[in-house]
Amino acid sequence: MKTMSRGQTSAIERIARDGGDLPLSFSQQRIWFLDQLGQGNASYNIPTAVRIAGRLDVPALERALNEVAKRHEVLRTTFPVADGLPRQVISPFRPVALPLIDLTGLPAAERRKHAARIANEEAGLPFDLAAGPLMRAALVRTKAEEHLALFTMHHIVSDGWSRGIFFNELVTIYDAFCKGKASPLPELAIQYADFAHWQREWLQGDRLDRQLSFWREQLSGPLPTLDLPIARPGAGTQTHKGSSEPFSLPADLTARIKSFSRREGVTVFMTLLAAFKALLHRYMSQTDLIIGTPVAGRTRLETEPLIGLFINTLALRTDLSGNPTFRQLAQRVKKVTWDAFSRQDVPFERLVEELQPDRDLRRTPIFQALFAFQSGLSERIQMPGLTCSIEASETGAAKFDLTLYVDETDRGLDGALVYRADLFDRASIRRMVEHFMVIIRGALANPDSPVSALPIMSEPERRRLLVEWNQSRREYPRDLCIHQIFEEQAARTPGATALMCDAESLTYEQLNRKANQLARHLMRLGVGPESRVAICLDRSLDLLIGVLGILKAGGAYVPLDPMNPADRIALILDRASVPVLLTHRAIDLNITDSAARIIYLDEEGEALALESGDDPPHAASAECLAYVIFTSGSTGEPKGVGVEHRQVSNYLNGVVERLGIAPGSSFALVSAVAADLGNTVIFPSLCTGGRLHVIPRETSFNGEELGDYFERHPVDYLKITPSHLLALQSLRGAEPLMRQGTLVLGGEASRWDWVGSLIERAPGCRVVNHYGPTETTVGVLTFEVPGGRPASARETLPLGLPLPNSRMFVLDDSLEPVPVGVVGELYVGGLGVSRGYVNAPDLTAERFIPDPFGGEPGARLYKTGDLVRYLEDGSIEFVGRKDHQVKVRGFRIE
Ligand code: AMP
Ligand code: MG
Repeated sequence: MKTMSRGQTSAIERIARDGGDLPLSFSQQRIWFLDQLGQGNASYNIPTAVRIAGRLDVPALERALNEVAKRHEVLRTTFPVADGLPRQVISPFRPVALPLIDLTGLPAAERRKHAARIANEEAGLPFDLAAGPLMRAALVRTKAEEHLALFTMHHIVSDGWSRGIFFNELVTIYDAFCKGKASPLPELAIQYADFAHWQREWLQGDRLDRQLSFWREQLSGPLPTLDLPIARPGAGTQTHKGSSEPFSLPADLTARIKSFSRREGVTVFMTLLAAFKALLHRYMSQTDLIIGTPVAGRTRLETEPLIGLFINTLALRTDLSGNPTFRQLAQRVKKVTWDAFSRQDVPFERLVEELQPDRDLRRTPIFQALFAFQSGLSERIQMPGLTCSIEASETGAAKFDLTLYVDETDRGLDGALVYRADLFDRASIRRMVEHFMVIIRGALANPDSPVSALPIMSEPERRRLLVEWNQSRREYPRDLCIHQIFEEQAARTPGATALMCDAESLTYEQLNRKANQLARHLMRLGVGPESRVAICLDRSLDLLIGVLGILKAGGAYVPLDPMNPADRIALILDRASVPVLLTHRAIDLNITDSAARIIYLDEEGEALALESGDDPPHAASAECLAYVIFTSGSTGEPKGVGVEHRQVSNYLNGVVERLGIAPGSSFALVSAVAADLGNTVIFPSLCTGGRLHVIPRETSFNGEELGDYFERHPVDYLKITPSHLLALQSLRGAEPLMRQGTLVLGGEASRWDWVGSLIERAPGCRVVNHYGPTETTVGVLTFEVPGGRPASARETLPLGLPLPNSRMFVLDDSLEPVPVGVVGELYVGGLGVSRGYVNAPDLTAERFIPDPFGGEPGARLYKTGDLVRYLEDGSIEFVGRKDHQVKVRGFRIE
């Protein structure tokens, strides 16, 4: 493709050197500018280390090196600044030194290591563009007949192609010198400075406009950025420290890539670029992707023998929308590549000037990922009588966030993923390389598969996420109703205090009897399995008696918040088809047209007292509905989630085990029971002989009173939302609400900095983050907050690991698991998955899908709408809501 604009006239001519004012080429100008920005870094060093075995004629090599420097003015050029602008200044030839560092005095085992260190130091040593020289060489002797030759040039005077020219000439001249002959190379017709001058004359006016307008169009609109979810949080400033992860594509895969490319009429370059795009697309679910690629830039014949900076970079923008197959993507990449290559004369730096993209200094302009493919250029250096091999040496610098290098050699395709070390860690990049190979393999095996459905993880990695991290199986009794578990507890500890509210309290026996009396009363009214009974009460003893009474009657409770407006309450009564409503006369419900029969618990005392206080016969089974809780979800439309006894008892057992709840602990209920938040404390308390402090609404919002209460009655467990706690805490200043016990945060995301300050104030407190949607029964993940914030932590607290019998799946839109670090939607499976939405089969079918990953027969997954990612250790981190309604509070405590 490099011949594309040949045949156009206007040959490059030699210009006078004595005019003084020699301009830089566009690319040189840009490199110069970047060098000014990143002072003293080695990003633009081009180092090569050559291991030479055999009898090396050192003086001949030194003379050959000098001969090359004599031929190419560019190797004698420096870039001093006058009036703020750089100029090319070509110096007369000055001998280039080839210092010899002799390591033969060291123990043999240490020499190579030492030599490698010298090579890396040499490669990483910055150049001074104004003073020069911009080429360095050194020779390290590791044995009498083994050397490591080090050559380093600055990119402003060289490029990859130039490196080939340099070694070709060096070897040819060395060969001649060894034989006592003169250099056989003809003098160069033009030099780099002539090209730079020509470029500035040639590329202007219409010619420039035509190409520029193509690029303006290509790069119009907002430019996508490379926002890889595996990037380290907070990695900000653009440093250039880089690392490299090498890989080789196996021979069979290389062969397939070639045959696919032939069949599809694309090049290997295009196939690999398509795969790279597919990879990034799968990591970011972004359909607009720009990847840069270098081109030799030697579109003129005269430039071919020159050392110098000709390389250009093209921004290849591909649209991956419309769910293309890999075959279609390859064709899209082909078109984009052709279009770009035929407008490659505009130097990238000129384009940047023209487009003036938003200058975010943390990012390279226009694109942050590069794909560099070299075909057949496998640099072999053959010196007569010697064996030479190029050693990998790293400058330790990365120009872009991510660069994929692939070289086509006689062995196959070798590559490396080079990355900014401050942005990515090695483990993530290793995985990414693996994913790249899995994607290529999948794409070639099935090119008509949509890119979105291609496999990305290897089998073992997939297995780890899907199976190993979900090994949460625990054998709990599955056939008990939640009130049965309570009854057993009441029989064990009849005299213990079960409930406290203000000055009142009830023992287990008293609570059980009152609940039994209510249950019998309700049964008389026809309440039984699957009937729903609404309960609309303030936080009080009656509330808990009501809940247990309904359950014991075999029914399901439907909690309503007395603070809710009448129309919402009426709507819920209607949606849940509730025949009976328990409330207090004092609560002004103001509902007129409900079919529900209303029972005022505060007026039924006499009737209830007539009922037996013995446990009624069990009417319900573990498969029966235990409660229906209405959540508004993101749409604001209330929907009733139906939860069965077996799901509640599984949660109960799981959370007791996970939190390590000891029998007889104390708990505080500070939230409305209309949401399931309180279930983290209600059942674990009443089913383990604990003492539940029911905190009235006013107190629960009064930081001072509540704090005093906890001084008098320290509790072991408090479950609270972060924003509730924040509100309370803001009234208390530095005084913590609790000094000891376990604080279970849940319902919305918490920020590390805020939680950190909580722990600082109350070092005796243990803090646990608890996550779960109502649809999967209260909670499914917990994260035990450590004493200090880990360095790798992001802004929000992790959600942690699954509770017993819960299974997590982080999936993309095609229900494919996404790798560690990549953002996907959380799907929850396991025994907590509830029955679904009451009286809403369509919505249930939409959000509760059959489990494709081999759960129990008939198992379903709940689609949470929460965006999360896996952390390295298998715990889950909250990222946001799919519908963008993120429940994260921007806490800050003074
Ligand atoms: P709900 O069904 O009303 O309990 O709301 C459940 C939703 O609240 C989840 O889907 C999350 O979006 C959010 N949520 C609950 N707990 C947490 C938590 N610990 N961290 C972040 N978000 C949470
Ligand atoms: Mg919840």
